[in-house]
Amino acid sequence: MSQPFPARLPLVRQDVDRNAGVRADPGLIDRLRADPATRVLPIARGRALAAEQVDGSAPRLDLLPPDAIPTAETWIYLGLSTSVSSVEAPGTPLLAAVLTDAAASALQSEELRWAGLRSIAAHLDDRDAGLFTEAIAVANWHDSHRFCPRCGTATDTVQAGWVRLCPVDNVEVFPRTDPAVIVRITDDADRILLGSNALWEPNRYSLLAGFVEPGESFEAAVLRETHEESGLRVANPVYLGSQPWPFPASIMVGFGATLADDEAPHAVVPDGEEILELRWFSREQLREAFAEILLPGPSSIAHAIVADWYGSPLESAQDG
Ligand SMILES: [Zn+2]
Repeated sequence: MSQPFPARLPLVRQDVDRNAGVRADPGLIDRLRADPATRVLPIARGRALAAEQVDGSAPRLDLLPPDAIPTAETWIYLGLSTSVSSVEAPGTPLLAAVLTDAAASALQSEELRWAGLRSIAAHLDDRDAGLFTEAIAVANWHDSHRFCPRCGTATDTVQAGWVRLCPVDNVEVFPRTDPAVIVRITDDADRILLGSNALWEPNRYSLLAGFVEPGESFEAAVLRETHEESGLRVANPVYLGSQPWPFPASIMVGFGATLADDEAPHAVVPDGEEILELRWFSREQLREAFAEILLPGPSSIAHAIVADWYGSPLESAQDG
């Protein structure tokens, strides 16, 4: 690589001290809800409340005083703001409140004020991007882990929103993250391999990616996934960087890989189920294709990895 991979991916930015040491205090959430200095990020249906935008201003999250939110399904302690540029002073305690649809509508009925992380992350400042990523990742985990894995009893939220506890057998369920590898495959001519996934619009192209299986290293997942999806054998997986992708619970682990010594680029065969089409692009060919294809959106690590190879911004980048 000619330059180090960008350290500032849209969803890796943080300007919050998670302050995990205080989560064990059972009175923490109640005390912070009673403190008018606390600020609360409302979350509903995977979206956060965005501040009303003045013309031309960058989007930002709408953090409310605790008395604006009388009830929530789940409260999560996000930490202390460390940002010096935010409305709130550094040291402000921050909570997320996961709301029911009804509570969300009562709080703000205008749909446009509820924003998805993927659509606004690249436009948020570091504090808001990190806060939104943290809040949505924990909220999504709560949403899919409401019952004890051992006995099926509904679990309670403890540890300021960071653990769920079974009241019958005391099993503790911790937040989990599912790793997925995403791979930039290049050939001897430094062309990049991009594929079109069956779940996407037909002209959308991105890198090959897949979940790491149990009992498998990241590097082994790179070799297996790329072979399954393209028929190609790759070698030399090199770690590029990672980014949380809480849709609903992933972390994307980026790798570069080259074709194995005895592998020919034209041997590529899309698996026909997940990947419908695969194309090699030189930089010139990608530039010429900008008008006809869609590339990964600016919030994604795929976008950053392709742009890093391309050497300049991707003009065709679409949200998504
Ligand atoms: Zn149980």
